[in-house]
Amino acid sequence: MAVKELNAIIGEITFLTPETMILRVIPDGWEIPDYTPGQFAILGLPAGSPRIEISDPEENPPAPDKFILRSYSIASSSAEKEFLEFYISLVRSGTLTPRLFCLKRGDRIFLRPKVSGMFTLNQIPAESNLILMGTGTGLAPYMSMIRTFIKPDDNRNLSVVHGARHSWDLGYNSELSTLNNMLDNFHYVPSITRPEHELTAWTGHQGYLQDIWKSGAADADWDSPATPETTHIFLCGNPAMVEGMVSILAGDGYMEHKKSGSGQVHLERYW
Ligand SMILES: Cc1cc2nc3c(=O)[nH]c(=O)nc-3n(C[C@H](O)[C@H](O)[C@H](O)COP(=O)(O)OP(=O)(O)OC[C@H]3O[C@@H](n4cnc5c(N)ncnc54)[C@H](O)[C@@H]3O)c2cc1C
Repeated sequence: MAVKELNAIIGEITFLTPETMILRVIPDGWEIPDYTPGQFAILGLPAGSPRIEISDPEENPPAPDKFILRSYSIASSSAEKEFLEFYISLVRSGTLTPRLFCLKRGDRIFLRPKVSGMFTLNQIPAESNLILMGTGTGLAPYMSMIRTFIKPDDNRNLSVVHGARHSWDLGYNSELSTLNNMLDNFHYVPSITRPEHELTAWTGHQGYLQDIWKSGAADADWDSPATPETTHIFLCGNPAMVEGMVSILAGDGYMEHKKSGSGQVHLERYW
């Protein structure tokens, strides 16, 4: 298929803030391939597409017919065959996202029909506890894992630790809070780094994910604490968080996962 075919259609588009959105993309006349939660797809638009006003002016814009392609983790359940959902933040100085933020329902987009990625639960034993840590839109692959696999009778502990600047940047907050209230073994641990900007006092966790890990909040509600023998840890999003956590976790006895299957720390860097 030629890249220049805008082979998919924007379904729902929800702006959580002016700089974050949830985008549903529907293939036009072809089927979403089978994929594993945690994997990513590629979206693209021609450079001639408009940029949103709040973005930075582009100093050297690409030729209008050049395609701009970027990777995005899938946030929908792999059982969902009508659309793929993505959780995307605007990079004001970026190339593709200022164009994605101009899209409207019914517009056309390129969606690569092949899905890729190794950031999945494939090699994790079914009884292992899980801590899924993400900054910003680094939550997206975990939404796909949770929406696909979560079961009320699951014996493993599962904590989702989500870091953002403000409470209004905590995408999927209500869905995750509901699961937290409904399921004994599901723990949602949101944290914000700019509590001084909140309109009403923030009483939840504060600080970077590295601080949350050190404070013990990630496994505070588990029946026994996380250890490298019982727990796998996933890190996704901002590379500074990923590097910082890898180093802290190494000190706590957790090793980076290798293709051989050893190691409990799994990484996805967004840039
Ligand atoms: C496997 C994978 C999955 C990804 N999944 C998602 C996702 O689900 N949601 C999502 O919003 N993004 C995701 N990304 C990032 C995405 O591919 C783009 O890099 C991002 O949208 C910026 O594209 P751009 O063309 O606007 O910026 P570019 O012109 O490519 O500029 C990118 C530069 O902006 C800076 N930057 C600041 N904030 C970010 C940020 N949040 N992401 C990337 N770069 C940033 C970095 O310095 C980076 O080098 C993923 C990346 C990878 C590799």
